[in-house]
Amino acid sequence: MSSNNNTSGKVALVTGGTRGIGLGIAKRLATSGFHLVITGRRDKADAQDALNDVAQSFRDNTQRVEYQQADVSSATERHSMLDAIDASFGGVDVLVNNAGIAPRVRADVLEATEESFDELIGTNLKGPYFLTQAVANRMIARQQQSTTLRCIINVSSISATVASVNRGDYCISKAGIAMATKLWAARLTQFGIGVYEVQPGVIATDMTAGVKGKYDALIEGELLLDKRWGTPDDVGTAVAMLATGQLPYAPGAVLVLDGGLTLPR
Ligand code: NDP
Repeated sequence: MSSNNNTSGKVALVTGGTRGIGLGIAKRLATSGFHLVITGRRDKADAQDALNDVAQSFRDNTQRVEYQQADVSSATERHSMLDAIDASFGGVDVLVNNAGIAPRVRADVLEATEESFDELIGTNLKGPYFLTQAVANRMIARQQQSTTLRCIINVSSISATVASVNRGDYCISKAGIAMATKLWAARLTQFGIGVYEVQPGVIATDMTAGVKGKYDALIEGELLLDKRWGTPDDVGTAVAMLATGQLPYAPGAVLVLDGGLTLPR
């Protein structure tokens, strides 16, 4: 995609922007000059702290942030959300598919349940896949009025390539998003829409808080860079770089943000 640092008036939609990695991404995009729409399942009152955090990161006083309560796994809620964004902002220029869940209970693949599989796939793969489809079609329809700087960024995981037998459903959902990134890049590059993927490693958020001890040991023993947890800001910095067109000539690029955890040694 062509480099274009003019983010003025552009709208970034970050699913799951109420906390964790999504909030880190939203704040970096706010610093880069985008208007922001953040989403989550909670009601608007519970998203107020996140809205304030994003607003504090604005580069200038023309920027706006909005919250949309929408479960990414629901087709109805996805479409209502996009209609509301079209009405208030005129459309989406950057989509960040970040919302995601870990398994409620880790279970060996010999024992994992269909219920957990359906929940993981619905939220982590099917939801973002069809949200991408809907956003891409709207982006293409707006193509004549829009300039460059349109892209879709998927937050997958190193679990897309590293198999864990006690959370196969999560790994499969993230491997699916990795393939979806390639498919959408192959289909959308011709329309000037960049499609990228970031694969975080171990990032300090609510999602990893319950397994902190396990990951502390991993970081101490295996991490090559700094021996520290990754932060939502690490991921936000990489996403902002992609969203502002600073990675030229690389459709479908995958950035591994894991401090060296998965490097061969
Ligand atoms: P958190 O659990 O901290 O935050 C999850 C976010 O997603 C919240 O904003 C939550 O909002 C939202 N969310 C969850 N389910 C839905 C849903 N069905 N519809 C809409 N929003 C939803 O997770 P992280 O920040 O850690 O993870 C963010 C992404 O990064 C996920 O896709 C995860 O798989 C991925 N990732 C995380 C890593 C880590 O180490 N933390 C490593 C690699 C990848 P609300 O509560 O309002 O619903």
